[in-house]
Amino acid sequence: MRSSQTTPAIVLRARPYGESDKIVTFLTEGFGKLTGIAKGAARSRRRFVNSLEPFSLVALRFEERSHSNLAFIAGAELLFGMRQLASSLERISYAAYLVEITDGLVSEREENSAVFQHLRDGLRHLEQIGSSLRFLTYYELKLLHLVGYRPALELCKRCGQARSAAVSPWYFSPADGGMLCEPCSRVRRNLLPLGHAAADLLSMLQSDDHDLTSRVIMPGSVIREMRLVLLRFIQYQMDREIKSAAFLNQFSGLENAAT
Ligand SMILES: [Zn+2]
Repeated sequence: MRSSQTTPAIVLRARPYGESDKIVTFLTEGFGKLTGIAKGAARSRRRFVNSLEPFSLVALRFEERSHSNLAFIAGAELLFGMRQLASSLERISYAAYLVEITDGLVSEREENSAVFQHLRDGLRHLEQIGSSLRFLTYYELKLLHLVGYRPALELCKRCGQARSAAVSPWYFSPADGGMLCEPCSRVRRNLLPLGHAAADLLSMLQSDDHDLTSRVIMPGSVIREMRLVLLRFIQYQMDREIKSAAFLNQFSGLENAAT
């Protein structure tokens, strides 16, 4: 007899498989990222009532299959449907981006309940409070920390020199995962300028003691610098293009920053 497991899970993506089935990828609390087959899900909505829509929080019941990496999805009961998200194109865009980068930065079956909780809380924030660049940046930085890619912002990643406003310019190196001073930058390629104002803002958002709903007024150039560094760094770690980023940038006034 096959034994089934139950865990809270968020639907990351789903695609049709054959005439009547769906292949669904979840981020679960207890088993990491998990992909399974939902038999009959494309034909009959009865067994999986709205519970395989992206962003849904469900109680997933699945069984392992000895001959396949795909789990058998025995049931998915909707716990939280993120209805407000559907009413706003802007919130959906943010949610799609959160899901895409989280999906891209975790591997299958690597248990990390903190990443699950971070995505769940992030989607709930979008649902209940709404979107902002500050929230987005906070989400990205904490996600990077949780998956082991916390960017080094206070020291030169190569020589260890402390970042100080007296010495300029400074750069961010996606390949090094942190800042580089000017002399060290000469031996590296694919660097992004990151001034002290933008680096300080990132540092502040990287620390835990800040209020997500308060606003910091920053020149557009600082915001663009910061956004570009994060996008490129996440893209570097994912090793592929972030499809939802272009759409997201329409709402954040950063069309030019992502190119
Ligand atoms: Zn250096």
